[in-house]
Amino acid sequence: MNEIITIDGPAGSGKSTVSRMLARCIHYSYLDTGAMYRAVALVAKRRGMDLHNGEALRKMCRSLDLWFDRGEDPPKLMLGEEDISGLIRSPELDMLSSSVSAVREVREAMSDLQRRMSKDGEFVAEGRDMGSVVFFRARWKFYLTASAEARVERRYRERLERGETVTREGVAEDLKRRDDQDRMRALSPLKPAEDAVIIDSTALSAEEVVEQMLNHIRERSNGSGISEYLNDKCLRGLK
Ligand code: C5P
Repeated sequence: MNEIITIDGPAGSGKSTVSRMLARCIHYSYLDTGAMYRAVALVAKRRGMDLHNGEALRKMCRSLDLWFDRGEDPPKLMLGEEDISGLIRSPELDMLSSSVSAVREVREAMSDLQRRMSKDGEFVAEGRDMGSVVFFRARWKFYLTASAEARVERRYRERLERGETVTREGVAEDLKRRDDQDRMRALSPLKPAEDAVIIDSTALSAEEVVEQMLNHIRERSNGSGISEYLNDKCLRGLK
């Protein structure tokens, strides 16, 4: 059986927390596609590559030994034998990943890899174009939004917790620049799939968002594989 739940949305909408929580609750694997674009950006930076050279980027993407080590929760992102999970989370790679992800050759290579990685089994796939492009046939599609203020606040706190020296204004500026770039690009721009359920997480906790998703699935699943997990124990486990 191959089942995919897609969760898309802008930075700071709570996608990652919610995707991980949902995957854990219903025993699905978690596919973090943003991490994959970050890995491409990291390698391009290390090699000093020209981000306008699509052909060179295609070659690089096709030769990457990129895989998730699912022995841990959340899974570690590996480049060959190197754990790059921590390295890809920096303000510089926030912006660089957004830039490389606008390149056609990079999107083609990553979309192929994402489909190959999830061709067997059950996945919660998180990103920008999961429901609209890569897994457009998925049965369950969600799009998370939140007010600009709430998204800035979440990102600001995350950065502080990571020990970075940041200002709210700086975080707001970075977030807006990246979102504008993701929304305005020609290829797979950030937007909800037509059949996605839109959830505004501004005033909701991550648990409440997951609960809404589970309720939506439960109401429409008619004995689908997921329904066996949709009991009170699963929801209690979230708290
Ligand atoms: O989700 P995350 O912030 O880690 O994503 C980093 C960048 O990767 C995004 O700003 C976006 O430009 C790009 N991305 C994408 N398509 C996806 C996931 C991420 O273009 N499916």
